[in-house]
Amino acid sequence: METQTSATLFEEAQKYIPGGVNSPVRAFKAVGGKPLFINRGKGAYIWDADDNRFIDYVGSWGPLILGHAHPLVVNSICRAAERGLSFGATTEGEIELAKMIVSAVPSIEMVRLVSSGTEAVMSAIRVARGYTGRNKIVKFEGGYHGHADPLLAKAGSGLATFGIPDSAGVPASITSDTLVLPYNDIDAVRMLLESIGKEIACIILEPVAGNMGVVLPKENYLADLRELTHKYGIVLIFDEVITGFRLAFGGAQELYGVIPDMTTLGKIIGGGLPIGAYGGKYEIMEKVAPLGPVYQAGTLSGNPIAIAAGIETLRILRDENPYPALEEKTTRLADALANAAENCGIDAAVNQIGSMLTVFFTSENVVDYNTAKTSDTHRYATFFHAMLEEGVYLAPSQFEAAFVSTAHTDKDINQTIEAAERAMCKLA
Ligand code: PMP
Repeated sequence: METQTSATLFEEAQKYIPGGVNSPVRAFKAVGGKPLFINRGKGAYIWDADDNRFIDYVGSWGPLILGHAHPLVVNSICRAAERGLSFGATTEGEIELAKMIVSAVPSIEMVRLVSSGTEAVMSAIRVARGYTGRNKIVKFEGGYHGHADPLLAKAGSGLATFGIPDSAGVPASITSDTLVLPYNDIDAVRMLLESIGKEIACIILEPVAGNMGVVLPKENYLADLRELTHKYGIVLIFDEVITGFRLAFGGAQELYGVIPDMTTLGKIIGGGLPIGAYGGKYEIMEKVAPLGPVYQAGTLSGNPIAIAAGIETLRILRDENPYPALEEKTTRLADALANAAENCGIDAAVNQIGSMLTVFFTSENVVDYNTAKTSDTHRYATFFHAMLEEGVYLAPSQFEAAFVSTAHTDKDINQTIEAAERAMCKLA
């Protein structure tokens, strides 16, 4: 495959942008090789700067559930842009998007729009602290919630590890109130809460993890978390930046029937434009300025172009209910990937739910966070490049989800399966 133009652009980009990218995973460091520069996208496909076409399963890391440049979404954006790009004052569209979110997401009675998932999470945590008057927060190992300082902490070993920053530039004093527990281990949560439950403002998690690769919550895990957080007066926050409007119109909380106190959103609600949102019960959200004492603001919050893209995307999802068809397509793909691996004698397990999946190269049948970590990332890198050669663009990292969109046709899925059958056998 000819990729010289991308290679030249990458050289140039590195002179002006750290690592040549505006978000680290784009640099292909985890899989090696040089990143492709993308020139355009339409439906299920993207074209790189050398005009190679790929079936895309990154989907801008989740937002593009309708595929690239959906004509109705593009049309809404154009119409909104003609009316003005930003006002720093409230527009009617903000009410419409807020109403759609409130009626779709069971936990949200009021919602505030921001400009990224990171901002949504950072703000939700501030509100949870303001509401409870407590400082400590709990996250889970392998859970990613954006790059706000207090959340850049993972666990070391042990039951509850007081957060040690994952990034230079984050003072330990800032993560010292962040407690990190193993994911999917309700006993670890129970033990922590028995000792300091009344000091904890919130527990935040991805109800279905997407950032350790796709890892499903164990049976009753979410319901047990709900019960425990109620008992100790802790705000339960579902970070549905990925899963919101993806696993169901009402997100993972609708799917699992477990309703948190607060929810963070992003990605799909902006249809591919920058957005985030956080919301929850009225009694919590009334703490947000100017109603209440918790400050949070944004120059471009509720940006009319992003709002227009979001409204159109959610309208299509609501009216067309593509979720059963998305799940069916993705299940077929997941099963075929597992079969392809087996036929080639490769140890692999595929975690899938709705339109999200991850192939792990491990001999475990059920992949939880601990086993996900043991996946053979070199093998993933080889698989990634073999699929790229076949014209299939997967996430350039093992610990991410592949996203199927409504634009992926049966033919695209079949082509992907055939590509995987050849790629898997190259790993043997
Ligand atoms: N939460 C989750 C669950 C995410 O997956 C992400 C981003 N992938 C974020 C928060 C941060 O969102 P953003 O990149 O828009 O800041």
